[in-house]
Amino acid sequence: MSAAKIKLKKGKEKSILRGHPWIFSGAVHLVSKELNEGDVVEVYDYSNTWLCLAIYDGGSLAFKIVSFHQKELDATFWVNTFQKAFDYRASSGLPNKSTNVYRLIHAESDGCPGLIADVYNNNLVIQFHGQALSKIKPEIVEALNSINKWTCIYEKPPSILRDKQKQEPKLWKGKLPEEITVTENGNKFLVDIKKGQKTGFFIDQRENRKQITAFTENKTVLNAFGYSGGFSVYAAKNAEKVITLDSSKEAIELADRNAALNKLNNHEGVCADVFEYLKSTPENHFDVIVIDPPAFAKSKRAQHTAIKAYTRLNNEAMKKLKLNGYLLTFSCSKVINRGLFEGAVAAAAIKSDCTFKIVKSLQQSADHPVLISFPESLYLKGMVLQKSETF
Ligand code: SAH
Repeated sequence: MSAAKIKLKKGKEKSILRGHPWIFSGAVHLVSKELNEGDVVEVYDYSNTWLCLAIYDGGSLAFKIVSFHQKELDATFWVNTFQKAFDYRASSGLPNKSTNVYRLIHAESDGCPGLIADVYNNNLVIQFHGQALSKIKPEIVEALNSINKWTCIYEKPPSILRDKQKQEPKLWKGKLPEEITVTENGNKFLVDIKKGQKTGFFIDQRENRKQITAFTENKTVLNAFGYSGGFSVYAAKNAEKVITLDSSKEAIELADRNAALNKLNNHEGVCADVFEYLKSTPENHFDVIVIDPPAFAKSKRAQHTAIKAYTRLNNEAMKKLKLNGYLLTFSCSKVINRGLFEGAVAAAAIKSDCTFKIVKSLQQSADHPVLISFPESLYLKGMVLQKSETF
């Protein structure tokens, strides 16, 4: 069966020619036949010049581009795509002796709309977001299996499903251990794939966690929204005292166990709401504070409220920081770009009556690639700020 064709409205080819992988339904002038989610389409501009191959994903972000070249989307295509992703990670040294947890496939950034594949000590955990690739799951799994000898391949449905589409977990290969111990930059972490958040661990913070020890020597550290203690384990190696704060009891239990696994006895897990906890913390209290909240804005409509929440949260944290202390602040909201995030934090600083220097700008680790042609792929933004007196 030949692929359907879509023709774009005049001028709507511009972003595609710049390498952007999305086509909104509003950009489409004509569709050659009725489409079902998962259908492959050939995309033409208004003057009938071939542009790219895309997959219909439904909704207003309707088409996701899978190739800017005329190709057959067969088994070889997917094997080549995954091999390229594997080689890219290998070229940046992943995995290696001190790190065996990393992201192999980061959706559109690896040419695979909606597909996430994370490696946990050679166990592969996959997730399908949206419908683009959901219809060809067996082919995807087979291609993933052909590029490496994975111990296990486990499909974990995303926690928030678009269109409330029901997905069940599925074991495609091998046996999934109840708990996996992974090593990240030489630190050990227990990961509960089935019950944990995301695919089990926030792998995107790996490079940022590595930075923290530069600021924590003999210091008191609050790791707020700390989950299983990722930042805490690194910090506790040279800090005086580290607190992991999270509202999830399971997360705090895991954080305590992770501290013990790394033979750290200067760690305390606290299960509480960050906003409440900060409210009852005295001013000028901690030397270092990490704030890495869940996405405050899930859609453009929530942008304004989210910006206000980032300002309020950062301001609270800034007040609780000692003079010359460091704040590591993050936003993982896809719809809040770096400019908006920095603006929210700047507003928090103004209210605090102190000066904050941007010591470092941070972002997601390189195994979650950011494409220069796809600014939306930069979803995790962060800064290290130092608090000083105003001059
Ligand atoms: N920094 C972590 C990832 C944080 S994810 C890491 O490196 O692994 C965000 C975390 O915030 C989740 O664990 C979630 O349970 C927690 N959380 C969400 N809302 C919260 C709140 N109001 N107070 C405390 N924790 C919260």
